[in-house]
Amino acid sequence: MAGASFILAINLFVAALFALAFFLVGISNRADRVAHFFALAYVFGLIYIASEFVLPLQDVPQFGYTVGFASFLGAVTSVTLGIARRYGHRLPWTGVWVTVVISVAANWFAYLLPHDTVLRNLIYQAPYALMQAIAAWFILVSRRRQPIDIGLTALFVLSALQFLTKPFAAVLLGGSGDSTSTYLATTYALYSQSLGAMLQVATGLLMLTLLVRDMLVEATARSETDPLSGVLNRRGFDDRATPGMQNTLPASLVLADLDSFKLVNDAYGHPVGDQVIVAFAQLLRDNAPPQAVIGRLGGEEFAVFLPESNAATARLLAESLRINFSGMSIPGLPVFARCTASFGVAERIGSESLSDLRRRADAALYTAKRSGRDRVMQAADPQSDAMPLHPVSGTSLARSA
Ligand code: GH3
Ligand code: MG
Ligand code: MG
Repeated sequence: MAGASFILAINLFVAALFALAFFLVGISNRADRVAHFFALAYVFGLIYIASEFVLPLQDVPQFGYTVGFASFLGAVTSVTLGIARRYGHRLPWTGVWVTVVISVAANWFAYLLPHDTVLRNLIYQAPYALMQAIAAWFILVSRRRQPIDIGLTALFVLSALQFLTKPFAAVLLGGSGDSTSTYLATTYALYSQSLGAMLQVATGLLMLTLLVRDMLVEATARSETDPLSGVLNRRGFDDRATPGMQNTLPASLVLADLDSFKLVNDAYGHPVGDQVIVAFAQLLRDNAPPQAVIGRLGGEEFAVFLPESNAATARLLAESLRINFSGMSIPGLPVFARCTASFGVAERIGSESLSDLRRRADAALYTAKRSGRDRVMQAADPQSDAMPLHPVSGTSLARSA
C-alpha cells in the first residue's frame, strides 16, 4: 500500500467518525440544521475518499475524476453552508449552485488537459479555496470574536491558502503523477493527503466544539429562564445579579408581588392568572433600564436588580411600574377589572450580599402589603436607627403632602 493510500484509509475512518458525531449532535438538536450540514460534509468527504481508491482501477477515469472533485466540493460547500447558518447569514444558494455547476463543468473538461500541469491542478483546487475563504468571510463579518471564532477563521484561511498553493507544491515535489493511477504513489499525494487529514481533523474538532458549546449555552439559558414570563427564573436572576454586587458602585433591588392574586385566580381562572403574570413581566421588560436584571423569583413575585442605581432611581422605577400596572387592561380580564402590585425597594449598603439586600427589600414589601397593598415602600438603612420603613406610594405621598 502506497503511503498516500494508507493516509487515505485513515482519512476514510476519521471522516466516518466525524459524520457520525455531527449526525448525533444533529438529532439531539433538531431545530438547528448546522450539524446536519457538517454531517453531510463528512459524508461527501467519504464519497471523495472512496473515489480516490476506485479511480486508479478505471480505464478512462474522466467520470470518476469529476465525481471525486464534485464530492469534495460538496464537502467544503456543506461546511460553508453550515458556517453561514451558524453565523446568522442567509444561505447563499444561488452562489453555491453557480460555483458548483461552473467548477464541475470546468473539471470535466480540465481532465482532458495534460496531467500534472499547474493549470489543471489549479482548476481542481481553486473552487475549494474559494469555498473555504467564503466560510472565513462569513465568520469575519459576523463580528463574533470568541477564541473559537478566531480559531475557525484562521483555519479556513489556512485551508484556502493550502488549496491554492497545492498546484505549485505539486511542481516542487516532483509532480502529481502523469495519470490518475500513478497519483497515489507520488510524494505530492502523500503531502496532499497528510495535510488534508490534519486540516480535516482540526476543522472537525473546532466545528464540533462550536456546536457542543452552542448546545451548552442554550441549555444554560433554558435552565435560567422562566418559560411562562420569559424573564429569568430565580437561579438565572441570582447568577446575573451577583456580578453586579461585586463593585463598589451603588446598586438597588426592587421586589414586587402581585396583590390578592389568589382572588384573581379564583375569580377568573388560572389561565387568566397566567396572563396577568405575563403582562406584568412584559411591563418590567418595557420599563426597566437595559442593564437591569429582571427575574420571576416565584409564583407572582418578581425582582428587578438595578446596578449602578441608588434608592431614588429604584423608587422612581417602582412607582412608575405600580401606576402603569394598576391602569393596565389585561387580556382575559373584564375591562373594568384592574390588578395591582406592591413593591419593596432597597439600596445596597456597603458590601452587603445579594441575599441580605433581598431580605431588606422583602421586609419593605411585607410592610407595603400590611399597609394596604398597591404601594411602594423603601427599606430602612439598618445601620441608622430609623426603624420605620418609608412609604413612598402615591397614597402615602399624597398624605404627607
Ligand atoms: P397578597 O396580596 O398578600 O400577595 O395576596 P396573594 O393572593 O397574592 O397571596 P399569595 O402571594 O400568597 O398568593 C400567590 C398566589 O399566586 C397563589 C398561587 O395560586 C398563585 N400562583 C403562583 N404561581 C402561579 C402561576 O404560575 N400562575 C397562576 N395563575 N397563579 C399562580
Ligand atoms: Mg401576592
Ligand atoms: Mg406571593
